[in-house]
Amino acid sequence: MGRTFRIKVRMRRFRRRHPRIAFAIRSLMIFSATFGGAYGFIAGSRSESSGYDPNAFAIGASFLFALACLGLATLSMRLRFVNKRLRALAAHNEKLIDRNWELKEAEERARSLFEQQGDLIVLRDHQGRITFANDAYCALAGQARGALVGTRFDFDVLEQGDSAREGNGTRVHDQRIATPLGARWVAWREGFVRLDAGQPAELQSVGRDVTDRTETERALSEARDLADAANRAKSRFLAMASHEIRTPLNGIIGMGGLLLDTTLTPEQVTYARAVKTSGEALMALIEELLDYSKIEAGKLDLEQRPFALSTLIEEITELLAPRAQARNLEIASYVDERLPLEVVGDAARLRQVLLNLAGNAIKFTASGGVALIVEPGIWPNEISFLVRDTGIGIAPDAQSRIFREFEQADERVARTYGGTGLGLAISERIVKRMGGRIALTSEPGKGSTFEVAVPLAPSQADAGQTAFPSPDLTGKSLLLVADGIEASLIARRLERWGGQTCMVTDAAVAEALLPERSWHAVLIDRALGPVSADRLGEAARAHATQRLVLLTPSSRHEKFSAAFTGFLVKPLRAASLAARLALAPEIISPDLAPEPPVEPIASARPANGLSILVAEDNEINALLMRSLLTRLGHRVVIATHGDAALESWLAARSAATPYDLVLMDIQMPQLDGIEATKRIRAHEAGAGGHRTPILALTANTLAEDRYACFEAGMDGFLIKPLDREKLDEALAGLIASRHLAV
Ligand code: ADP
Repeated sequence: MGRTFRIKVRMRRFRRRHPRIAFAIRSLMIFSATFGGAYGFIAGSRSESSGYDPNAFAIGASFLFALACLGLATLSMRLRFVNKRLRALAAHNEKLIDRNWELKEAEERARSLFEQQGDLIVLRDHQGRITFANDAYCALAGQARGALVGTRFDFDVLEQGDSAREGNGTRVHDQRIATPLGARWVAWREGFVRLDAGQPAELQSVGRDVTDRTETERALSEARDLADAANRAKSRFLAMASHEIRTPLNGIIGMGGLLLDTTLTPEQVTYARAVKTSGEALMALIEELLDYSKIEAGKLDLEQRPFALSTLIEEITELLAPRAQARNLEIASYVDERLPLEVVGDAARLRQVLLNLAGNAIKFTASGGVALIVEPGIWPNEISFLVRDTGIGIAPDAQSRIFREFEQADERVARTYGGTGLGLAISERIVKRMGGRIALTSEPGKGSTFEVAVPLAPSQADAGQTAFPSPDLTGKSLLLVADGIEASLIARRLERWGGQTCMVTDAAVAEALLPERSWHAVLIDRALGPVSADRLGEAARAHATQRLVLLTPSSRHEKFSAAFTGFLVKPLRAASLAARLALAPEIISPDLAPEPPVEPIASARPANGLSILVAEDNEINALLMRSLLTRLGHRVVIATHGDAALESWLAARSAATPYDLVLMDIQMPQLDGIEATKRIRAHEAGAGGHRTPILALTANTLAEDRYACFEAGMDGFLIKPLDREKLDEALAGLIASRHLAV
């Protein structure tokens, strides 16, 4: 069998190599066979004994010929079919050769890409032996690929970072490894890859050298920590320095106040006032510097609490009113009624910004006045606060400069008015921190308008509430006889309530207008002149149901005409105006007009004075506290350090005459205020019974110091410098609660 096959293969090879010889041999063989057959047949048929039958011969010959033709036709068809298949095979073969070539090229490209990757790539079998390592891995390992493949080589790990697993099972982790090139940080991604269904999976690790990035990050983080520490140290230093400055200042301002309460010659009063005012100016400066450093250190934490908008604005206006009126200036506010009653934000910081802007407006205005207008802003939930004055204005080139720290519009003006140039810088930063903006429009000689627009969402509790019922003045005529900023704001408000307001600035014109129609109310500003105001009031009796006189706080004690049905004190509160206009006129008579409140007499001793322990190491401040508290009618014991305070507190408690209150200075020698408080609270916890209220007495305003006070068990704190009003306010609540307890 094998032999036959071999012969066949040889013959086939011979045919392939020598096709012509094979063709000649094949033709010869066919010819010989045909010739032999034909010759034999003819020779056979001619012989005498053959019994030749020409018919049978013809039939046989035809049959043989037909057979040969059939064989030839079959062969030819087969040949064509084989030829066709051969062509198809050749084409397929061609395609396969092309594909093979493409695959080889792709594999080559993938391999070189894989090997020349900057990332480290290593494949390990299930026993941890390397099956492939790319150039980068070999270079970092300092070994040839051949030397690595088949070994369990791995780098020494110097530091291992946290590892995490991704959703697809890939493990991600950072390692600091030792390499012949030194320690490197590598971020690895590791996962199993299955190469062959029958084989165990291989572990593929891809590592990226992140040494530079990690080291930069570390350096940055160290630098940030250092900067933070420096910033903290700076804030601490500023807080300490300001505390140290505030303490003696507290003495200066307090003693100045006490001195002013004694009998002094006019000259001495001037000097004592100068001492007090200078002290207060210095205190304001320290506060600004402290604020500025807090903002610089990014320590400005904003509160998010609901507050009433109109209360905030009216409080600011009333706080600044004495300062404005002392300079013969008007100050007035207007809060648009479309605004929510309560909004959520940091009222104290907003107040600080508006106080600064309105304070500046008063400072830089010689005649006219200042208006605080609150309106809806251009964005949803945005509120726009306008502080408008009729002052000296700001030159265009100085308008952007004044928002920078320590910048003033004009050196000459600055010398006249004083100031540090910090107020606007602080205000702008606070407003930006609130997500708002501050803008200025000003014309030298005419005045300035500062606009603060901040996003303030309405409070949830606010829904549908109104501050006060606004009077319905639809179709009613009102005559407003007044001049200036406040008059135009009152007119604007009356219009909003539906009234037809006629505003005149001249009493004679107003008198001429009175008989024109029947007036619902006539409002007359006494600033036009007391005599003409009273005369106009009398004249209005016959024409107006309500006759109101507008007074300044200083003129409220003066007598005014009985023709008036009521009075309103400037700056006007919208609620008071609404209440006055809504009242039925017949129930008001000038005699029933509410008595102007009498200033509380500070030295009056309340019968229910408290017994107070004051722990204060500074002699002057202790003296000041004693004087202030004694004047307010309280009994005071002074302790000059924490230990003495603790002893005194214990002694009073064991004698069954416990203190009603302890005022505790924080920084004291020996035992400080925090520690002394902790010990008092510990005693109380052990012995049970009455808990003594303890208020911190501090010049420190840092939030962490306040937390420390509360953590130690204090109930609140009083910020130095203290004055009689602040103390009285703080103690009033305590006296009230003691009454309730009794
Ligand atoms: P300060 O008032 O303490 O100097 P500010 O930062 O509050 O500091 O103000 C910077 C400067 O801007 C002021 O010195 C003044 O020149 C100018 N300025 C601020 N407000 C007004 C205003 N309403 N009218 C005119 N000038 C103003």
